[in-house]
Amino acid sequence: ATPTAIMVGTEKGAENGVLIKDAESLEKTHKADVVVLDKTGTITEGKPAVTDIFPARGYEANDLLTAAASAEKGSEHPLAEAITARAAEENLSFQEPDSFRSITGKGVEAMTGKDKIHIGNEALMNDEQIDTQSAAAKAEELADNGKTPMYVSKNGRLLGIIAVADTMKSDAVSSIKQLKAMGIEVVMLTGDNEKTAQAIALQAGVDNVIANVLPDEKANHIALLQREGKKVAMVGDGINDAPALMQADVGIAIGTGTDIAMETANMTLMKGELAGVVTAFTLSKATMRMIW
Ligand code: ADP
Ligand code: MG
Repeated sequence: ATPTAIMVGTEKGAENGVLIKDAESLEKTHKADVVVLDKTGTITEGKPAVTDIFPARGYEANDLLTAAASAEKGSEHPLAEAITARAAEENLSFQEPDSFRSITGKGVEAMTGKDKIHIGNEALMNDEQIDTQSAAAKAEELADNGKTPMYVSKNGRLLGIIAVADTMKSDAVSSIKQLKAMGIEVVMLTGDNEKTAQAIALQAGVDNVIANVLPDEKANHIALLQREGKKVAMVGDGINDAPALMQADVGIAIGTGTDIAMETANMTLMKGELAGVVTAFTLSKATMRMIW
């Protein structure tokens, strides 16, 4: 594209909330075969709320929520915020944990007094050899409804499940539909479990799902798609999306997300709306043809 075309394209982008950092990305975007979308904070609002509290036999919902909230008080993960907010709403008193360890992509471990608490996904419970049998069917049912179930245990015993759900962005379905109409393959990439991810993908209209991805594996999945000969645009908001944004042919950050994602990306969608991805493709095409 000519310098004038690039300049106009960049200006049009800015007017429409698409901040384009480099000319090259504007020229490359329209060539992408695949758009990879992070789930939490990209397809969804990224503000999960607790939907279900399912105590194991012999426990009360409040025991479960208090233990979980205490452990999560040390965490800044959106799932943690959902749990502490719910506990506060229920007027439960929960303490700051004495020690706390976040287990990336799996959950947290915390000590409160003499109690060791774990909260997280099935992989974490497997690592800790905690028996989840009594709640497995419930977890599956919750996940099939697009909710994220988290197991909570105290001193090696399962206390129950807390599920959270996140709202889909209002323009997610229409934006994904438009991308597909342009012949682009749309993939969802998430650290969440397979069933929850599939349920949300179905609602969103995404073609393919890559779930259970640990944060440091996201970039590898982009590289795998590239090795198949595909040009990849990645859209994400989180700290854990930054390496994938870097790896992608075009990295697009959600402007309501983390600074590191925006610093790494070639473009930022200022309004945080997914419609911005469609705008980026349209602008890129127009820039190459000098038609607006
Ligand atoms: P996402 O792609 O949703 O940002 P993460 O890689 O942060 O996923 O986390 C993957 C999974 O690990 C979550 O779906 C959840 O089951 C579990 N997990 C991570 N952090 C926490 C936490 N603070 N509390 C409970 N579970 C967690
Ligand atoms: Mg995210």
